[in-house]
Amino acid sequence: MVIGVLKEPSFETRVSLLPDAVALLVKKGHQVMVEYDAGQAAFAPNEQYQQAGAIMGDRNKVVASDIILSIHLPEVKNLPGTKGVVLIGVYQPLYRFLECKELASVGYTCFSLDMLPRTTRAQSMDVLSSQANIAGYKAVLLAANTYSRYFPMFMTAAGSIAPAKVLILGAGVAGLQAIATARRLGAVVEVFDTRPAVKEEVMSLGAKFIEVEGAADASGAGGYAVEQSAEFKARQQQKIADSIAKADIVVTTAQIPGKQAPKLVTREMVESMRKGALIIDLAAATGGNTELTRNNETVNHNGVTIIGDSNLPATMPSDASKLYGKNLMNFMELLTSRDGKLELNWEDDLVKGSCICFNGEVVHERVKSLLG
Ligand code: NAD
Repeated sequence: MVIGVLKEPSFETRVSLLPDAVALLVKKGHQVMVEYDAGQAAFAPNEQYQQAGAIMGDRNKVVASDIILSIHLPEVKNLPGTKGVVLIGVYQPLYRFLECKELASVGYTCFSLDMLPRTTRAQSMDVLSSQANIAGYKAVLLAANTYSRYFPMFMTAAGSIAPAKVLILGAGVAGLQAIATARRLGAVVEVFDTRPAVKEEVMSLGAKFIEVEGAADASGAGGYAVEQSAEFKARQQQKIADSIAKADIVVTTAQIPGKQAPKLVTREMVESMRKGALIIDLAAATGGNTELTRNNETVNHNGVTIIGDSNLPATMPSDASKLYGKNLMNFMELLTSRDGKLELNWEDDLVKGSCICFNGEVVHERVKSLLG
């Protein structure tokens, strides 16, 4: 098979496959076409790809491959639309369903790895986890770097320093990594989540889990959160308001797939924080968890800084690309037969669950329902 690697848009530093992964594919007998400078921002120059056995080319050549790999959804107008060619990436089809429909209409078979069912078998292909883990880690490092005080407690001859108080909203993959990183830096950490199942994990990381009674049952949502009742939201808001007024740093990560992020932090709550406090909002791309977040901007409100950086994994392009590429390699194994040919097994829940377009149509049920 011919596997193509696209260069990402200019705001992205990551690449979908690094040279080490290319070498493994070439060893298996595949031909790998890489767009010129695809790995440049991830410190993987063209020569390294060539040494790994890749053929470098411009986009016209790369899009003639059997499988085309990327991170972001490529622009349809830049693709020839060859029937049966497979595209794999993270296309956010629950938000970008119209563009997915366009890809279907020009004949592509598309797999979006953010739609993989969150099962144990899917873990090695789970790009949301590999990238969210980086986002959680970098969120805390960014906070520590921006904050005007120490994170750890110190007793020095010049006086004592109290540890920073960190509040984390949402204990999914990013939130748990943020807790672990903040604890390693010596902060005192409090956590909210609507899923009581995470309480033990939060406590095992040395943080305090703040419970709010009466969360909606999310057991049928594949591990994800669901929308909450108005009563629950009011109770949660009161408890968050109490914690936030004492917090130095807030990291928000709460998301609901396919919906706008829940607004957990109001303007009044931000105004109750002391000057110099900091919020890192990892849900900025889907509207943010605070009323004041702006995607990919830093806002200062009343002395409180709100950072809405939604692409923190791109600040660590080498490891982010390495892990993303490994996820892709594992996923491509599912799509290929023993002799290395494309073979789509629709009985496989991971193949079916992540397929958005096939045979000229959008086939994913949730995406279809959004298209009406
Ligand atoms: P996510 O990014 O969808 O959401 C982040 C967190 O925000 C979640 O913990 C969610 O419960 C929480 N949240 C949502 N609304 C909230 C609100 N109003 N208030 C407070 N918190 C709120 O989550 P994620 O990191 O993608 O993880 C989602 C699920 O997938 C988890 O159950 C996780 O354990 C599971 N998971 C499974 C696999 C796998 O088996 N392949 C891999 C990773 C994660």
